[in-house]
Amino acid sequence: MAEVTVHGPLRLGDPAIIVHGGAGGWRGVSGTGEVLEAVRSGARAGMASTGRGLLEALVEAVAALEDSGVLNAGVGSVLTYDGRVEMDAGLMTDSMEAGGVAAVTYPRNPIRLAAYVARELPHVLIAGPAADRLAERLGLEKHPGPSRRALERWRMLREELARGGGSSWARAVHRLYGDTVGAVLLSRGRLAAAASTGGIALKHPGRVGDSPVPGAGFYVEKGVGGCAATGIGETIILGRPCVYAVELLAQGVPVEEAARAAVARHTRLFGPDTLGLILLDHSGAAAAAMNTQGMPIAAEGERSEPLALMLWRSGGERKDKESRRDPGSDPG
Ligand code: ASP
Repeated sequence: MAEVTVHGPLRLGDPAIIVHGGAGGWRGVSGTGEVLEAVRSGARAGMASTGRGLLEALVEAVAALEDSGVLNAGVGSVLTYDGRVEMDAGLMTDSMEAGGVAAVTYPRNPIRLAAYVARELPHVLIAGPAADRLAERLGLEKHPGPSRRALERWRMLREELARGGGSSWARAVHRLYGDTVGAVLLSRGRLAAAASTGGIALKHPGRVGDSPVPGAGFYVEKGVGGCAATGIGETIILGRPCVYAVELLAQGVPVEEAARAAVARHTRLFGPDTLGLILLDHSGAAAAAMNTQGMPIAAEGERSEPLALMLWRSGGERKDKESRRDPGSDPG
């Protein structure tokens, strides 16, 4: 049976938040300390905003992750095949208030546009240039354009691809995911979940992944739990692991077992290196699971100290404290 790595249960209480910085091939990536700082700041921003309401707190958590510049969302988004930023984001609450934006280029924080869709529009998903025009009309902050890090990575990947021959593009693209962001929040018994991403590096312009789609990149159910996914969006749209995991919670399966079972099922359907997820139940118990090499997560709760760690496939986890002492190092 293919390997599933699980962390949890974390007994966080209410309010509580768990965030991730993307499942993928993190081994060999330098600057893991920066990444842990980024996920920690996302969790902190969410917890600090719970007084402003459920959706607002979730948006602040994800906006902090988008602003970090070291994760594949918002400012740090990876680039399409033709070298542009095109982002997806979405969110929902347990009252089935949901919104997503796909293939947008204008907003610095696509999650703020998704929240507008959830609150104000009679639609769930809007995409492309019209969504960008809406962001501009709303006065949302403009995206600064590709980050230096994203441009360097794009040039390197394009050169690698050129050396390997053009026909390898389709195969290569599905290895180039990771460091997307997601969050699940519990506040006063209410649940909400979100995802935001630059997508998959070198993706076809106009490609839309799982992250803006409720029931794919994220899902919540009142009185049960919430989930956010990361990995190869095409498999997540087809397999709907978040819906499956929340359904298991509804049947009384403990959070860490539900997370494990959802990733195991996904691995059976689509193979390894396809999925990571974070799951939070209505009692404030959380777990993370993945079938990839690594996934950074952070959590905070009324009943627990803030925590940030890189979940590694081998089961070896480096704790918060260690990476603080040695930022910039690769704990793998
Ligand atoms: N799920 C994202 C997408 O396919 C990528 C990721 O999670 O890293 O767009």
